[in-house]
Amino acid sequence: MQVKVTRRKTCRLCDGSRLELVVPLAPTPVAEKYATKEELHQPTPSYPLDLYICRDCGHVQMLDVVDPAFLFADYTYQSGKTKKIVEHFDEIAETTLRRYNITGGLAVDIGSNDGTLLSRFKLRGMRVLGVDPAKEIAAKATESGVPTITDFMSLGLAKKIKQEHGAASVVCAFNVFAHNDDIAGMAESIRALLAPGGVFVFEASYLLDILDRMLLGTIFHEHVSHHSVKPMVSFLKRHGLELIDVQRNSIQGGSIVGTVQLVGGPHPVAKTVGDLLEIEQARKLDQPETLKKFSQDLQKLKGQLEAMMADLKRQGKTIWGFGAARSGTTLIAQMNLAKVITHIVDDSPDKQNKFSPGDHIPILPTKALYEQMPDYVFILAWIHAQPIINNNRAYLERGGRFILCVPEIRVVGPDDLEKK
Ligand SMILES: [Zn+2]
Repeated sequence: MQVKVTRRKTCRLCDGSRLELVVPLAPTPVAEKYATKEELHQPTPSYPLDLYICRDCGHVQMLDVVDPAFLFADYTYQSGKTKKIVEHFDEIAETTLRRYNITGGLAVDIGSNDGTLLSRFKLRGMRVLGVDPAKEIAAKATESGVPTITDFMSLGLAKKIKQEHGAASVVCAFNVFAHNDDIAGMAESIRALLAPGGVFVFEASYLLDILDRMLLGTIFHEHVSHHSVKPMVSFLKRHGLELIDVQRNSIQGGSIVGTVQLVGGPHPVAKTVGDLLEIEQARKLDQPETLKKFSQDLQKLKGQLEAMMADLKRQGKTIWGFGAARSGTTLIAQMNLAKVITHIVDDSPDKQNKFSPGDHIPILPTKALYEQMPDYVFILAWIHAQPIINNNRAYLERGGRFILCVPEIRVVGPDDLEKK
């Protein structure tokens, strides 16, 4: 399949052209495209994943953009399937409405997925409307009571929504704010849609956490931006928007939830914004050297891991992977694990009996671990490392070992189990 890849020449946030390559990475297949047996004969191309920094505003981003229609059309991720995410969304809805005195009106979610976030606003008396390009998931959301428009958000669509449903008291964009190549267009849509006094709430993975916790697994083609607060503040200002609060959380490894109003809006700017700006300045987050150091650390980790894997292979040990997640594709490509890991297990029936993107490593149900007892299992779904370890005590007790690689290499045996 021929997929369109375009390459930007300017910064996604400020349009500046002084872009510097800071984290070169191995080209990688699209992370979510696990292949069926019938698709195995089709070649799987790899696409660049390199990160650049803008010398003008400090925004860290990918410049190569894989056609979003290909990336998102058959997206299978569903937020409602993870209990922690549902609780997180519930808290977001509660806090947003309470803190900004919003007692009714319309809530719009851009990239609304299965409608989980909007359902929490609906529970609290809001009218809701989702926008999401993934057909199947959007249809499911509509069926479950969250009407969803199957499309990408655009200025035209924002104006149409406003005309038909009125201005929005709340607009959300959870994680899609890191997914959109045309983020300026998205900001203009949000400005057009927001009611005076309304708020826009977004969540994005946070650059500082990526650096501090070596969150390599969060770098994949959907994440064209890796946000930090400083470039975001000036970007929003240029689009008539103002960041009024920013909170950190560790749900997806390390993210920020930002709240935004129209410039001149009624809400005061919380201290959290200035606090994070100060931390970013102290950490030189907008400097190319900081990112280059991260890149060097990654290379060091890769070297250590390669040496360890080669040693295990020499001893004749079998090594499998756990978790057919998007992060797994990145980890396999960047850590050079395609020739090391022979099988991947996953709890989800949707992934079982498929093959990893590009390398075509077979995905088996988790029970295969117990039937074949590989010596080591490398955890690819790093966010879920602890539950994976806890759920598979029996594998460890029978002599198996887990390997983790971020933020550092660690071999986990039965002694590391959390006491019940
Ligand atoms: Zn810039």
